[in-house]
Amino acid sequence: MNNVKVNVAQVRYREGESVCFDLVEDFSSFDLGTEILSFQAPVHVQLQVNNTSKVLLVHGKIDTKLNATCGLCLETFVYPLSLSFQDEWIFRAQATDDLLETALILDKDEIEINERIFEQIVLALPMKFICSAECQGLCPTCGANRNLAPCHCGENDIDPRLAALAKWQSKD
Ligand SMILES: [Zn+2]
Ligand SMILES: [Zn+2]
Repeated sequence: MNNVKVNVAQVRYREGESVCFDLVEDFSSFDLGTEILSFQAPVHVQLQVNNTSKVLLVHGKIDTKLNATCGLCLETFVYPLSLSFQDEWIFRAQATDDLLETALILDKDEIEINERIFEQIVLALPMKFICSAECQGLCPTCGANRNLAPCHCGENDIDPRLAALAKWQSKD
């Protein structure tokens, strides 16, 4: 597993102070349940950690690229992921009950944040990856990828309602 660390010693006791981190880390592929996702690029994490006296307030930005499979045409494509998030970090001694539920609880100045980053990435993923808004998907009849070449299935299919109407009209 990756080991993404930051050290907040610089702001821990300084109210109003902030510190920025700019990290580039390789993440290993992971199982999403529906497919194995791998990273096509390292994960770029930018953090601004601000001591607000109550908490360490974190503004984060994550950029990376994933290898994903299109849910319509089943081709592999590069899915760029860019997200922003806000997080609260608090040292255990200062944590109130509600913060214990939502904040990242710190025990020392050096913090491993890979899980927190990974969580943000997973939460930002779509339910279904689509390679492009114009993706034509696979033909339900012959299975051809309609983005590559149009197939001729369905060209002679007539809407049954129109067929019934045509029949009815021809009675006159
Ligand atoms: Zn597609
Ligand atoms: Zn077809």
